Amino acid sequence: MVLKLYNTRTRTKEEFTPLSSDNVRMYVCGPTVYDYAHIGNARPIIIFDVLFRLLRHVYGDDHVTYARNITDVDDKINTRAAEQYPDMALNEAIRKVTEGTAAQFHADVAALGCLPPTHEPRATETIAEMIALIEKLIERGHAYAADGHVLFEVSSMSDYGQLARRSLEEMRAGARVEVAPYKRDAMDFVLWKPSSEEEPGWDSPWGRGRPGWHIECSAMSAKFLGETFDIHGGGVDLVFPHHENEVAQSRCAHGTEIMANVWMHNGFLQVEGQKMSKSLGNFVTINELLTGWKGYAWPGEALRFNMLRTQYRQPIDWTFDALDETHKTLWDWYGALGDVQPADAPPAAFVEALCDDLNTPQAIAELHKLYAAKDYAGLLAALRLAGFSGRREALARQTVGEGDDAALALDADTVETLIAARIAARKAKNWAEADRIRDELVAMGIVLMDAKDPETGEIVTTWEVAR
Ligand code: AMP
Ligand code: ZN
Repeated sequence: MVLKLYNTRTRTKEEFTPLSSDNVRMYVCGPTVYDYAHIGNARPIIIFDVLFRLLRHVYGDDHVTYARNITDVDDKINTRAAEQYPDMALNEAIRKVTEGTAAQFHADVAALGCLPPTHEPRATETIAEMIALIEKLIERGHAYAADGHVLFEVSSMSDYGQLARRSLEEMRAGARVEVAPYKRDAMDFVLWKPSSEEEPGWDSPWGRGRPGWHIECSAMSAKFLGETFDIHGGGVDLVFPHHENEVAQSRCAHGTEIMANVWMHNGFLQVEGQKMSKSLGNFVTINELLTGWKGYAWPGEALRFNMLRTQYRQPIDWTFDALDETHKTLWDWYGALGDVQPADAPPAAFVEALCDDLNTPQAIAELHKLYAAKDYAGLLAALRLAGFSGRREALARQTVGEGDDAALALDADTVETLIAARIAARKAKNWAEADRIRDELVAMGIVLMDAKDPETGEIVTTWEVAR
C-alpha cells in the first residue's frame, strides 16, 4: 500500500518514505491552554489522529512516535489569568488557568475518539532545552541579544521564507508591525524576552525571562523526535510565521537542510457559513457541542465523523444539518452492525482512500458501499481503524432544553417501564421489539448494561444516563 501525502514544503502530493520505518516520527502543534478549544481547533487534532492511526496500521503500533505539545507559557495565558482570578498571585492564577484548560482539552479530545500522543510535552517543562537552542543560535551567528531580548536574525539565513514561499522583501513590505528599537530587521523575531517580577520567568544568560512561542516547538520536537523528523502538522494559519520560524530556528541551530520532511496543513473551519468569532456569537467550543448545541448534546463520534466528511485541506462549513445527517448515517450503520465482530483486516479500498492524502470523503464512500453490501464485519473493521467504536451506545444524543440549555430531566419511571417491556420482549423471544426498545432508550441518552446473574443465570439490566 502506497501512502501519499501532500507536502506544503514542495507543494506536491508525494509518496511518503519515512526516514526510518522502525520509527516514523510526527509532530503537531498543540493548544495554547487559556480557553476552551473550539471546533476549529478540533480539526487538526482529529485529522492528525487519523493519520497517527493510519501510520500505526501501516508501520506497526510500536513504530510510530507522535509528539503534540501543550503551550502553557504565553502572554494570552497571563492576561486571562489576571482577568479570571484578580485576587490571586499571578503565578498561582496562571497555574489554575493552564491546569484547568489542559484537563478540559484532554477530556474534549478523548470524547472525539483521539488517542493520546506518544509524548505530550509542556513548554514550561522544556525551558532548559529552549535556552540551549537559543545559545546555539547565538553561537552560530543566527541570533543576537539586545535589551534583555534575544532575536533571530532573518537575514542570516539565505532561504528564510522557503516554506511560505515569500521573500524577505515581500514580508517587510507587508509587515504592519511597529518595529521595536532593539530589532535589526523588522522581520527578526523573538526567541526570548524579559519578564517583570510578577510575570512567569526563568533565569537565563540574558536575565530572567520567558521564551517566544516559535522556539517552544523547535525545542520540544528536537527533544522527542530528533533534529530531523518525518511529518510536521498544524492548521494552515501556522505556515507563516510559526512554522517558517520553527524551520529557521531548527535548521540554523542544528546545521541541517531540513527540519521535517513533510509539512501538512489543514484548511479552516467555519460555522454555518460564517467565520467563527466571539463577536458574531458563533464561537462553538468542543465542550458546547458535547453538552448542548442547537438542542442536542452531540456524541463525540458524530462530531469526529462529521469532521472527516470533508478532505482535510479543504475549507469546511460546520452546520447543524450536516451534523444531524452524520448522526443519522452512523445510527443506521451502527444499528445494522449490532454486536458483529470486526473483520481481521480493514477492507483494502478503505485503507487505499486514506492512503491517498487522507481522502476521507472517498473513504466514507467506501463505508457506504460496505453497508450497502451488508459487509458488516468489514464496515466495523474500517470504522475501528479510523477511531470509531461502531456501537450504538456511543451515539446517544440527548436533547437539551432550548431556553435554559439544561439537560432535560429524564423520567426514571419511563426508563424503568421501557426496560421492563424490553425484558418481557426478550423473554417472549421477540428480538425485534427488544431491539426497538433498546434503540428508543439509547435515543433518550440511556446506556443499558446487560449482565448475567451468576446464580440464577437471568439477565439483569442496569442503566445510566450517557455522558
Ligand atoms: P490556536 O488556538 O489559534 O493557536 O490554534 C490551535 C490549532 O487549531 C492550530 O493548528 C490552528 O491552525 C488550528 N485552528 C484554529 N482555528 C481553526 C479553524 N477555524 N479551523 C481549522 N483549524 C483551526
Ligand atoms: Zn508549533
